[in-house]
Parts: sequence; C-alpha cells; structure tokens
Amino acid sequence: MNGTAYEKMHNAAAPNTPIDLHLLREAALEFLFPRRCPFCDAVLGGQLECPDCAARLKPLALPQKRLAPATHYFGRLEQAAADYRYAGAVRQAVLRMKYGGCRWYARELGSRMARDLFGCTFFRRYGILLPERALWGKLAYDVIVPVPKSSRRRGYNVPLLLAEPLAGALGLPIQAEALRRVRCTQHQAGLSLEERLVNVAGAFCAGRACDVEGQRVLLVDDVITTGATAAACTEALLKAGAEQVSAVGFASSQWQQDLELPE
Ligand SMILES: [Zn+2]
Repeated sequence: MNGTAYEKMHNAAAPNTPIDLHLLREAALEFLFPRRCPFCDAVLGGQLECPDCAARLKPLALPQKRLAPATHYFGRLEQAAADYRYAGAVRQAVLRMKYGGCRWYARELGSRMARDLFGCTFFRRYGILLPERALWGKLAYDVIVPVPKSSRRRGYNVPLLLAEPLAGALGLPIQAEALRRVRCTQHQAGLSLEERLVNVAGAFCAGRACDVEGQRVLLVDDVITTGATAAACTEALLKAGAEQVSAVGFASSQWQQDLELPE
C-alpha cells in the first residue's frame, strides 16, 4: 500500500505550500477528537507526548535499542531495534492497542518510533503534529513491510498502523500485503525458543502484491520477543528476492525472562 493517508497528509504539509483542504479536515477532526496519551489518556494537544509520561516512561537507552543476538534469535535478519522495554505501562498500552480496540494508539506509538529510532523531529501545521522527514531513513531502506496480523478476529493490523507514521516520517512506501500468513500459529506465550521457532517456521510467505526484489526492507512489528517471528518473515522476504531485512518494534522483551508474555 503506497501513499498512506498519513503520508499524503505529510506530503501536503511541506512549508510554504497553499492551504491544504485535507490537512484542514484533519485539523477539524483533531479538534473534535483530540489526540490522547496512550499511557494515561491525557489530551496531548500539539505535544508529541504528555510531560508526565515522558518523565516516568523512558525509551531504551541507545545501546539497548539495538537488540542483542545473545538474547534474541535473528536468523538471517540483518539487525533489529526497539524503542521501549515491554513492561509496565508500555505493556499495558500495547495490550490495549492489540486487544482493547484502541487502534488509534498506533499512530502515537509509531510517531515515537520515528523520533526515537530514526531521529525524526516534528513540527505543527494547522495545529497538527507532523514529522520532518528523517532523510537518512530513505538512504538505509527502500520499503516498509508490516508483520501480517496474527488474529482474524481483530479487524486491524497493529504493525501496519504503527508503520504508517513511520513511513510518513522516513518518506518510504509501505507494502502492506507483501507478506501473508500461510497458516495460523499458536500464541507464543509459554513456548521455549525452540518451540517458537517451530511454531512460526514457514508460517509466512510472499503475498501476491509483494515486490521486494533487490530492496532493503524495514520490517515493522509491535513487540519483538524472541525474534522468531521477525526471522520467519525475513526468510519469506529473502525468498521473494529482498536484498536484506532489518526489523523494528515498538517494544522488546528478552525471551528468557518473559515467557509468559504474548508476542
Ligand atoms: Zn501520559
């Protein structure tokens, strides 16, 4: 899916462009339904995050953002990074986003990924927070691919919703259906790494719209636990001709310590 609504909105927001009706519509919607903090529900206004949660919920420090091969399984994944530790209020927000119907959290959390993982800054136009393009993202990657959704019951795909603000900030296209699940997998919770690898092995393949030949792919997921899911997606993308695959998640946990957590 190229040219997401978020990306169109960003494209329309370049400084010194004429008044944009799409952006004005977005501003009106935001006036009626103001953005809220996914952690405490405070109204955000023009801020990227609320000061209270910014003070108590710190993103991972820079060296920890890059996930260590010693505590994850990457397979042929080039590298992986995450913004926050999957615990406490961050974990609660992710669970509400995935299972509580709070799909709008994804835009907020995806924007934070753009800031924390790619150095993106934001500016306001017509009262709406918009990303300044982090140009080097386009130098490092060619396309963004979200992990396919895991539940048929959920009507939306969280990794895709997280990928949209990221794509707008990096100026990259999204291929929403580059991957598809070949079969359902059981919940990874409580499985050992070996069981997880077996559970997701061959679970993904290239979708009919997949066009990643020779491309550097940025894979997006909400939580990276063992890395087994990202590694299985990587296999499918490399098989479809991708040059290399890197992965980012909003949060990560180390499988040895968090076996009870859903992936
Ligand atoms: Zn808050």
